[in-house]
Amino acid sequence: MPIKMDNEQGRLPGTFLRYNTMFIESPKQGRFQYAQTVGLTKEPAFASQCIGCGKCEAHCPQQLPIREKLKEADKALRPLPYKIGINVVRKFMFRKTRRSAAQGK
Ligand code: SF4
Repeated sequence: MPIKMDNEQGRLPGTFLRYNTMFIESPKQGRFQYAQTVGLTKEPAFASQCIGCGKCEAHCPQQLPIREKLKEADKALRPLPYKIGINVVRKFMFRKTRRSAAQGK
């Protein structure tokens, strides 16, 4: 699933915003914000969902290696304990929604 390139929190610019936060503020703060704005949304757009089509790089005026940087950002923003934590919280948060959907509510 490609990442949508808009200015919503948690999309492509949001990923790099949180990655920058790791260096400007602290790694913990960047990871926490990424988990909040991307990981715990109903339809998360994790950097790892990039399919590597390169369309964003073709449009980037700074010719940044976006695909490579996204992989780097995802690795830094979601180390294993954060991935596990996000998955556990997501299961709890969206449990009711899935149950309701299964019951046709
Ligand atoms: S390469 Fe860029 S446009 Fe293509 S899926 Fe990844 S982020 Fe989206």
